[in-house]
Amino acid sequence: MKKKIAIIGAGIAGLTLANLIKKNSENEFMLYEKQESLSLEEGYGIQLSSNSTKILNLIGFNKIENEKIFHPSGVDFYNIQNKKICSLDLTQFNTKENKYTTLQRSTLIEFLKDEVYTQHLRFGKKIKEVSELKGKVLIKFDDNTNDLVDLVIGADGIFSNTRSFFEKKKNEPKFKKAIAVRTILKTKPELEINEEKISLMMGKNCHIVIYPLNKSKELNFVCIIRDKKYDPDNIKSLVSRVVAQNSNLEKAFKGDLKSWPLYFTPQILPSSNSKVFYIGDAFNGFLPTLAQGAGQSIESAYELFNLIEEDKEDIQNAYFQERSKRAKIVRRRSNINFFAFHFSSSIFQVIRNFFMKFLVKRKKFINSYLGTVYKN
Ligand SMILES: Cc1cc2nc3c(=O)[nH]c(=O)nc-3n(C[C@H](O)[C@H](O)[C@H](O)COP(=O)(O)OP(=O)(O)OC[C@H]3O[C@@H](n4cnc5c(N)ncnc54)[C@H](O)[C@@H]3O)c2cc1C
Repeated sequence: MKKKIAIIGAGIAGLTLANLIKKNSENEFMLYEKQESLSLEEGYGIQLSSNSTKILNLIGFNKIENEKIFHPSGVDFYNIQNKKICSLDLTQFNTKENKYTTLQRSTLIEFLKDEVYTQHLRFGKKIKEVSELKGKVLIKFDDNTNDLVDLVIGADGIFSNTRSFFEKKKNEPKFKKAIAVRTILKTKPELEINEEKISLMMGKNCHIVIYPLNKSKELNFVCIIRDKKYDPDNIKSLVSRVVAQNSNLEKAFKGDLKSWPLYFTPQILPSSNSKVFYIGDAFNGFLPTLAQGAGQSIESAYELFNLIEEDKEDIQNAYFQERSKRAKIVRRRSNINFFAFHFSSSIFQVIRNFFMKFLVKRKKFINSYLGTVYKN
């Protein structure tokens, strides 16, 4: 039976689900976004491994302008002094059609908004009240409009407001005591790096990731720094701790810096309402140390889309089983990476580097650590 679906939040998760429904289903849907427009500023970069490009290709991502994306061939690991430790070949996870891809977030949002913008996206919408009516969910928005739907999909990010209307059990995101500082570099920094690859530099209580965003080789530069408190007015002093470890990094931090506190979701909880589902960061927010936030948003949208289309009984349980299993795999690896990338003790750094050199060459290990995530 044809269903009416309300998707709350037009980020990567909500827009992916909207595209899947629009292009492959008879179901009706509307996307409700609280902002007055989509954020299309240059913004930061996104890495998409083949598990997510495979899904995006089903909705035409393979036709995106080639100049606007990049396919890095691998990851080079360095210490913060720019001394190379080892390399990981990313092409081993690629297929001809589905490749590891880096791009600007705005490029991805532009692509995802195209088919749904005019007919299926409403801005300035925030839920005010929800109730059950004749086996459906009645959503009232704070601009006094409403919608009566069969399913509600919370895709409103890690601080999901949708959850607060439907869930009694709280799952407040926690501050990881780390801050991300980002900028876009228009020219190569004063570092010995290969611009065709992702460069990852590990220092004391910090790590840096640099990667190309497009064919003009603009570089995304993000530095994760551990600190107990997030103070946006204190970013310079935070950055100085990194520059003190390698003065060649000073220029990279000279541009327009943006900062974010890093949050994660402590528990993976099911929805308590059979008509309400959560996708993307609203389901679970990951640390960025496996670069899987957007990828998992896309995967969760796809999993839910398939279950709704199959129209089986107990979709809720099937979705939670599948999603939580996947989220746990990604969460464990993101946490291990976070731990390993930031050692402050030089002895631990030497031991870590030794193990990395050893493990990166072990096909079996790489397949189980990364292949499990990338080849889904
Ligand atoms: C520093 C950093 C680096 C990252 N790097 C990567 C990377 O390289 N690769 C990767 O895969 N991921 C990365 N991520 C993670 C990734 O950006 C997110 O996981 C992903 O964007 C989540 O998408 P989403 O659609 O679930 O949520 P969001 O992108 O948060 O979108 C939620 C949407 O819902 C809207 N909304 C919020 N509240 C309401 C409401 N009450 N009503 C209606 N609408 C609402 C918001 O305005 C927004 O449009 C990174 C994250 C960080 C912090």
